[in-house]
Amino acid sequence: MNDQALPLQDKSTDPISLISADDIISFNADELSGASTGEISGASADGISGDDEIIWLEEDNLSSDSDSQASTSGPNFQAWKILIVDDDPDVHSATRLALSSFQFEALPLKLISAYSAIEGQKLMLTHNDIAVVLLDVVMETSDAGLKLAQQIRGELGNQKSRIVLRTGQPGQAPEASIMLDYDINDYQIKLDLSRQRLLTTIIMALRSYRDILTIENQRVELETTLGQLEALQEELKAYTHSLEVKVSERTAALQHSNAKLHRLATLDGLTQVANRRCFDDYLSEQWHQLSQFQKPLGLILLDVDFFKGYNDRYGHLAGDECLQKIAQAIAKTANRTEDLVARYGGEEFAVILPETPPQGACQVASAIIQAVEALGIPHESSSISEAVTVSAGISWLIPQAEISETSLIETADRALYQAKQLGRNRIQLYKP
Ligand SMILES: [Mg+2]
Repeated sequence: MNDQALPLQDKSTDPISLISADDIISFNADELSGASTGEISGASADGISGDDEIIWLEEDNLSSDSDSQASTSGPNFQAWKILIVDDDPDVHSATRLALSSFQFEALPLKLISAYSAIEGQKLMLTHNDIAVVLLDVVMETSDAGLKLAQQIRGELGNQKSRIVLRTGQPGQAPEASIMLDYDINDYQIKLDLSRQRLLTTIIMALRSYRDILTIENQRVELETTLGQLEALQEELKAYTHSLEVKVSERTAALQHSNAKLHRLATLDGLTQVANRRCFDDYLSEQWHQLSQFQKPLGLILLDVDFFKGYNDRYGHLAGDECLQKIAQAIAKTANRTEDLVARYGGEEFAVILPETPPQGACQVASAIIQAVEALGIPHESSSISEAVTVSAGISWLIPQAEISETSLIETADRALYQAKQLGRNRIQLYKP
């Protein structure tokens, strides 16, 4: 359907003015038909293009077909694509003439012609980088242009291209809701298609399109940056995790080493019971603690009988082995958590018995004497037994803050001496 009101259709008028008065586009019938220039050779006689052939206004400035594939936002951006959708060939000619040699931001325009809404839709599909659509309202139907605008925004999902509606009939002006819903940028009456008016419209539309592209590019860049940031955060998370694993591994190794060092510092290397230093510390600690609660502290000092003779008879290696076995036997016997078995000197051992009255200390000492003899370590140099034996001196006190714990050691030592005097392989409780 042709726009009856369009003055361009009146071919008898020559030259034809789009607007009569103050200018601006004026051309003759030959130019309108395109015969003299061949510019609109793709248009069929009835004004509807016979095929999809596109006529380029400024062929020299444009690349080949591949250009239609190029994105306007990419580096191959070479021209602003303007799609003219109108069933009137004269409108195409007039528009091309008005926009010829016009450049926007140093880039030429690339004018593409469609002579029906269907053709316009096809071209919108193949060209995803149309900057501006100059869209006739009345074509195949009285609202073909409006439907195409709806399709562009809806089905084609194209929100970027700027749409300028043009109609020959002022009565066909779209309602405000359509302008809003389809993001229509401008509405013009063809009677007012002066060159100046058209250029103003194109400039405004191109500026708007350029801004949309800029915003879109910035959005893409921002998304890329955000993606990179998220990837970095993930890397950081993984790195932090591996660091935490390493730290906990090192910490465990360090704790293991510390425990080993502590053992080495507190254990007697030969017998693997507590060493003398550990004995001193523990005795002092218990003395202080039990003095506060006024509870008894027992101490057993043990000495291997005729150990010099044993070493002479069996050698020092056998002597060491003998001490190891005795130490383990003592440790097995005095085995409460709070008891401490220590190597006190060469062949002397000590047992600290917190919160133990004299009867209890005597029981433990007797058990140790029996356990050592039960080991059955041959001792030919002993004058009292065929096996290795030990003597035990026992002492106990309720610790007093004003007395030193050495008094407990001295009394146990005296008791041990008494046990030796009384024949060895026995226990002796200190009696003042
Ligand atoms: Mg029309």
